[in-house]
Amino acid sequence: MSKEPLLQERNKNGVPLFKQKVTKLDVKIDNEVHYEFGGPIGVCAMMVGFPCLMYYFWVCLEYYQGRLIYPTSLLQVKPWIVNEIWNKIKVGAYPSLWATQVYMGYIAFSFALAYCMPGPVVEGLPIPSLNGERLKYLCNGLSSWYLTLFVSFVCHVSGLFRLTHIVDHFGELMTVAILWGFTMSTLVYVSGILSHQTHRMSGNFAYDYFMGSCLNPRIGPVDLKMWAEIRVPWPVLFYLSLSCLLKQYETYGTVTAPAVFMVLAHFLYVNACQKGEECIPTSWDIFYEKDGFMLIFWNMAGVPFTYCYSSIYLMKYQLTTGRAITHNIFCTAALFSILLLAYYVFDTGNSQKNRFRMEQNGSFIARNAFPQLPWGHIRNPTYIRTEHGNLLLTSGWWGICRKPHYTADLTMAISWGLITGFDSFLPYFYFCFFLCVLVHRVSRDMERCAKKYGEDWEKYCERVPYIFIPYVF
Ligand code: NDP
Repeated sequence: MSKEPLLQERNKNGVPLFKQKVTKLDVKIDNEVHYEFGGPIGVCAMMVGFPCLMYYFWVCLEYYQGRLIYPTSLLQVKPWIVNEIWNKIKVGAYPSLWATQVYMGYIAFSFALAYCMPGPVVEGLPIPSLNGERLKYLCNGLSSWYLTLFVSFVCHVSGLFRLTHIVDHFGELMTVAILWGFTMSTLVYVSGILSHQTHRMSGNFAYDYFMGSCLNPRIGPVDLKMWAEIRVPWPVLFYLSLSCLLKQYETYGTVTAPAVFMVLAHFLYVNACQKGEECIPTSWDIFYEKDGFMLIFWNMAGVPFTYCYSSIYLMKYQLTTGRAITHNIFCTAALFSILLLAYYVFDTGNSQKNRFRMEQNGSFIARNAFPQLPWGHIRNPTYIRTEHGNLLLTSGWWGICRKPHYTADLTMAISWGLITGFDSFLPYFYFCFFLCVLVHRVSRDMERCAKKYGEDWEKYCERVPYIFIPYVF
């Protein structure tokens, strides 16, 4: 393991001059197509299944106190689907003009801010399919986020747009988001084909539509994939939770600790994405995944409209049925502590690795966006220098396990469920889903890294043997 200073040569601004390079192996790995997610049949099932699941959960949450409902016999299936699901969707989740204006208005507003607000520009990793070219990313997430908070505050207080309306029209907004998820996926897919920017295509339409046709679609300075990853899902999720908190206050004249917990949890998440936006171009989704249905649909509709079940459940049922861990102040306090601790590891874990990678990439910039947590940037880290040329960090959280940021993210996810108690599965959906996503992602990532780094990867795995939890797994 090397202990030499990471990067010695720097320009007059202190930017390191060492730059990562693209090797022939990178190009080979980047072009390899092998079916994942169960291939064409698996992805078709997901494209049909995701929206159906979202409606089913919505009906359970909205009309059955979060209880999972089901027909009691096979003969019941058809009338049950029509009566219990379809009729309720027609009434409560119709894509009204109001919902279209609100959701699409936010999409347009968020895009306009991404287009024109000020922010630093950072270079992404060298892209194998573009002969190692580094794309530039305008990181104006933070200024856009603060402006969005200000505008929404003014709208709410002035009565121009009461934030409580968001949760009142949840079903309608969800349908508009689902329709927009399909529309945007189609537009991006077609534009990738028409502009001849296709990459890693399998030749199977369904699979390529799901995975995407191109890697980095852009409109002017806006990278659509990065915009969709952080500017839509997390802010919408935060506003849904805030809407629930305000609605709770409006309805019952009080707010409960678990409802505040959810707003805090979602605020921390969205704020982390915006304040550390310059770290995101070096993350897996941006440098490897294509911009297809999988990312677009999930960001536009899936994340905000399924990760919010805890907030809605608490708003609707906590004060009427007494559910949630409010009766036990010690559990609530413990969950607040767990959330904050997990957030600390999540924030600093992502910062440590991404800043390390940015230094290698020559794109490191220091920012004072709030909050900067201690240990977020490791000076003089230890690492393994690979044959490939890249360095693998073995300091900080990254010396303890190989995916410390996933462990922390999952801990936050389970705390979002635990704060609601144990009466409904729905607040735990996010944790269960996310666990599957991350376990699958880890196996894909490890396979890719093993190919890319060969023996060096084995050395790294010997040095850091555990993936999620030291001495356990
Ligand atoms: P990672 O940040 O783990 O990126 C993986 C890549 O990092 C690897 O392919 C490798 O790239 C590089 N790498 C791995 N180990 C090291 C190391 N020790 N030193 C240096 N580089 C290393 O993955 P993600 O982009 O998936 O995750 C980023 C964050 O986003 C996480 O916190 C995750 O929890 C979160 N996330 C949240 C989701 C949600 O829905 N809530 C969904 C997905 C992610 P290379 O080959 O270039 O070396």
